[in-house]
Amino acid sequence: MVTKKINKLLIGTNNKGKLREIKNLLPKNIKIYSTENFNLKSPIENGKTFEENSLIKSKYFSKKTHLVCLADDSGLEIDCLDKKPGIYSARWGGKDGNFSKAIRKVYRELNKKDKNWKNKKIHARFICALSISYLDKKIACVVGKVEGHISHQARGTSGFGYDPIFIPLKNKKTFGEMKPSQKYNLDHRYKAFKKIKKFF
Ligand code: IMP
Repeated sequence: MVTKKINKLLIGTNNKGKLREIKNLLPKNIKIYSTENFNLKSPIENGKTFEENSLIKSKYFSKKTHLVCLADDSGLEIDCLDKKPGIYSARWGGKDGNFSKAIRKVYRELNKKDKNWKNKKIHARFICALSISYLDKKIACVVGKVEGHISHQARGTSGFGYDPIFIPLKNKKTFGEMKPSQKYNLDHRYKAFKKIKKFF
């Protein structure tokens, strides 16, 4: 039975960067569990959208643990690459989730597309779908976005994933060069979280 305010929650991700960022968004009085506490592997993400994949994860992990689950599906869309890597953002890092490999692939694809890309603004955005499920039931599913562009080279060691190559709108620094507190206030996850805050 799900009550209005959730006080016990599983965060449905095996991505340590996401886990850290989601934990930071949640009120401190909530008892938080992670997939590591249950030794759970991630489900196959065969949805066609961020929302579908987020719901696949929150329902799967909730059914495995019988806890209310908050899951995230997120990624980077680059306009001139037909919105790639999009829902395949994690997969561009290969089986071992190697982010420098994923970043090299972004630059390779940009060079293939247009040798002159460094003289243009490469519009991109991070998208995050957050969903809350209990067993097979969706409680909520929301989306947050942050617009920006791709930097000419990877900069900064903060954050995770594509953070070193993403410069949010009206900024000069990449997410990788920002303090975590600066990124949290601007990013796609925070914007999505604001829409489901009322459940916590
Ligand atoms: P998935 O949601 O587990 O399929 O993975 C999303 C992937 O998108 C991550 O592994 C990262 O590569 C990327 N991503 C999502 N959110 C962020 C972010 O806030 N910063 C950097 N990369 C991100």
